[in-house]
Amino acid sequence: MDVLFHFLFTLMALYAARVHVRHHHLAPLIFAFVATLPDVDHFLGLVARGTLHNIFVTFFFPLILIALAFKYEKYGVFWKQMSILFFLVLVSHPILDFFTSYSVVYFYPVSMQHVDLTNFDIQLNVEGETYPIVSSASAGVLVYAFILAGAFFLEELVEIQDRTHRGFRYALGRLGEQVRSWLREP
Ligand SMILES: [Zn+2]
Repeated sequence: MDVLFHFLFTLMALYAARVHVRHHHLAPLIFAFVATLPDVDHFLGLVARGTLHNIFVTFFFPLILIALAFKYEKYGVFWKQMSILFFLVLVSHPILDFFTSYSVVYFYPVSMQHVDLTNFDIQLNVEGETYPIVSSASAGVLVYAFILAGAFFLEELVEIQDRTHRGFRYALGRLGEQVRSWLREP
């Protein structure tokens, strides 16, 4: 997908995930900008959708930052939450590109195999006319939205854990209760 789409959609999704309430209006803006960074590999003589779109840069690198934040941030949640947001916006970028671009080299430099999920448009044929039901692009946007919506739940999870000083399992249970009570509220 194009750079502007990554920027705009990430911005809207992070606002919807209330990132601006928990942090500051600058946070969704900065992370929307971060979401466009992998596309720098189209320039500077790098491998397009390879050098900065691969699993090492967009998955393992931000995952290591989360691990470091959880290991070293003993008090407070700022770096834990920032590293989670960083992870979500980076990990979702190539996944959207799988559905909308033909050439994500996801395992670069280990393999030059392209990941391509652009071919499963679902159409309905009625009396010789075709009506599109699902295109791979819209399916990609759906997956992108789901991943970015994770920002809301993961940030809440970290906050519950910090507040209660209990384990991950306990915090997950509390988050489930909280979501159920939000759903019951008008
Ligand atoms: Zn891209």
